[in-house]
Amino acid sequence: MKVIEHLQQAKSTLFSFEILPPVKGKGIQSLYDHLDPLMEFKPSFINVTYHRSEHVFKKKSDGSFEKVVVRKRPGTEAICAAIMNKYMVDTVPHLICGGFGINETEDALINLHYLGIDNVLVLRGDAAKNESSFEPEPGGHRYAMDLLKQVTNLNNGVYLEEDLKNSSRTRFCIGVAGYPEKHFEAPNMDTDLQFLKQKVEAGADYIVTQMFFDNKKYYSFVEACRNIGITVPIIPGLKPVYTKKQLTVLPKTFHIDLPTDLANEMIRCKTDKDVEQVGEEWLLNQSRDLMKSGVPVLHYYTLGKPHIVGNVVRQLR
Ligand SMILES: Cc1cc2nc3c(=O)[nH]c(=O)nc-3n(C[C@H](O)[C@H](O)[C@H](O)COP(=O)(O)OP(=O)(O)OC[C@H]3O[C@@H](n4cnc5c(N)ncnc54)[C@H](O)[C@@H]3O)c2cc1C
Repeated sequence: MKVIEHLQQAKSTLFSFEILPPVKGKGIQSLYDHLDPLMEFKPSFINVTYHRSEHVFKKKSDGSFEKVVVRKRPGTEAICAAIMNKYMVDTVPHLICGGFGINETEDALINLHYLGIDNVLVLRGDAAKNESSFEPEPGGHRYAMDLLKQVTNLNNGVYLEEDLKNSSRTRFCIGVAGYPEKHFEAPNMDTDLQFLKQKVEAGADYIVTQMFFDNKKYYSFVEACRNIGITVPIIPGLKPVYTKKQLTVLPKTFHIDLPTDLANEMIRCKTDKDVEQVGEEWLLNQSRDLMKSGVPVLHYYTLGKPHIVGNVVRQLR
């Protein structure tokens, strides 16, 4: 079922979770161990992130270095199919521009279609670790918008080979990313919102936000979107804090602020266990407030901490 159908049929606030594919070599059981305790909350859908290949330098026995391509977390499409099969829950694979040619993207979309997956979250991806700014693959997409157009083309039966006749249509429901605190490369919020609006006009069915820790930022973002005519659902993305290191890592990695009250509470904590407690309480309060405001779904980035998310959702049902 499509995400948008879940939203249309919802009688109360829905829950959804986001997971990462396991690190290569770990095996899929590690992912099931992560998801098993969350399934009692009956998520409407589960997102699975996408991770591009990276170039790394590997030391050889003679002391020199060779450049090798490593994909640390492969398997997004197969994981989505495995989750659907095991738990009977809809999945949303993330798809990115970075590291992909358009033919590979088309093949990935065809595979997803054959697997019965009707959802995709369309993203640009970040710059590769060895690049200072995002560079598309030769002939690949530069912006999420370009990838989105490829998906809508397939939904209309338009494949890259123009002479294909009577082609089968895919039926992807398309999500895109939005940034309550602005995408870090955008010159300003208004410009970022204009590009977001273009993605919606080009066929995005809904928006999922970057994580935020201050609900006021989400509410202002939604208001700004509505003011410029973006009418699609805007799903809040939520993440717990659980280590002191996140005080600096989260702002640096995700270009978001931690509110003063939260930061102060984290600073006062003696151990990461204490931070976890603070994070759980903060997430619960954020979730309760968002639920009260009538958000369609609470989308949790579970990333290695399913028990915190579980403890929160248990108190919301
Ligand atoms: C919910 C969510 C899930 C994510 N999942 C993943 C994942 O699984 N894998 C992964 O690698 N990354 C993921 N990311 C990170 C994401 O790939 C990065 O934030 C990336 O830097 C931007 O992606 P985007 O889709 O928002 O890009 P875009 O929409 O392409 O925007 C990128 C930048 O370009 C600007 N822009 C857009 N269109 C134009 C234009 N026509 N001309 C000039 N500028 C333009 C925008 O304002 C923005 O600053 C996720 C992010 C979010 C919020």
